[in-house]
Amino acid sequence: MNESIERRIERLQTGGIIDMHFDLPMDLYEKRGRRDVVETEFLPEFQAGNISVLGAAIYIEDRYLPQNGLRIALDQIARLYAETAASQRFAICKTYREVQAAQEMGRIGFVITMEGVEPLGTDLNQLRVFYELGVRAIGLTHARTNSAGHGGIFAATGSSTEGLTAFGREVVQECEALGVIIDLAHINPAGFEEILLITTKPPIVSHTNVRRYYNIERNISDEQIRMVGERGGVIGVNSILVSPREEESTLDHYIEHIEHIAELIGIDGVGIGFDFFAFIFRQWPESRQKELAAKFTKPHFIPDLTNHSHARNLTRRLIERGFSDADIEKIMRGNWLRIFKELL
Ligand SMILES: [Zn+2]
Repeated sequence: MNESIERRIERLQTGGIIDMHFDLPMDLYEKRGRRDVVETEFLPEFQAGNISVLGAAIYIEDRYLPQNGLRIALDQIARLYAETAASQRFAICKTYREVQAAQEMGRIGFVITMEGVEPLGTDLNQLRVFYELGVRAIGLTHARTNSAGHGGIFAATGSSTEGLTAFGREVVQECEALGVIIDLAHINPAGFEEILLITTKPPIVSHTNVRRYYNIERNISDEQIRMVGERGGVIGVNSILVSPREEESTLDHYIEHIEHIAELIGIDGVGIGFDFFAFIFRQWPESRQKELAAKFTKPHFIPDLTNHSHARNLTRRLIERGFSDADIEKIMRGNWLRIFKELL
């Protein structure tokens, strides 16, 4: 019995795992004086977890804003390209075909994403530039307000009730025209609804949790889940906001988020957006960790789902909880691949 589970895990893992949100570029920027960071610090974990594609998220921390958002975003992308060029193990993917090609060559594909449009300022032309550089999914905001809209806050109520700005609407429409996936992660409920009103293609929520288990406006409600499902979108389940309580931040509870979304919109609407953040959090001094907890919330890392090498633990637990192979494959990669095929 045990052996057959091992074989089943191996078979399911072999097709690869797609994680649509990883804060890799900001870490590469902080380590910009070093070389081969991805290969030496991350590749062993990616390999242990059979990671095949990562959403590599451009994100600008508050301390660099407002002056340096554009420059640091460009530097983050530059480091990702430089690291990719220096290695045989990675590929930056701008199209579905390039994702397939990376998989065929055994390379880990990076799909560049943007979390918050601060790098654009208020200039739509910059969107074209980032598109040419390979950005293929954009979420308008993080938790803060910017030129495009307002983020959902880490509380049950109190986010801005306003939708997008005129610039935010232009960004969304230009994304649809260019072929950039709209990512609804983080946006406030009013912005979420407005984006769905002015778009037609399937949306994604690259990394989020369900409000049923962690009721903050940064996460998504049952109604929002249904809205994404009605449009054929996919929701990536986040590993760091599964519960406000540390003791409930477990692998089983992570899977309950998957099950909840699947119950509402079917298994075709669920993917992975691990948002592994412990590696950054642990590099910070205690003062900065406390600052983050005060500003947002204290992250509760799931002990056996803290980095990409732990992806196997998820596969094992999905099997143990009775998920079929077909469903596990959809969660791990199939649903994201469908989105890439349709939109990239
Ligand atoms: Zn995020």
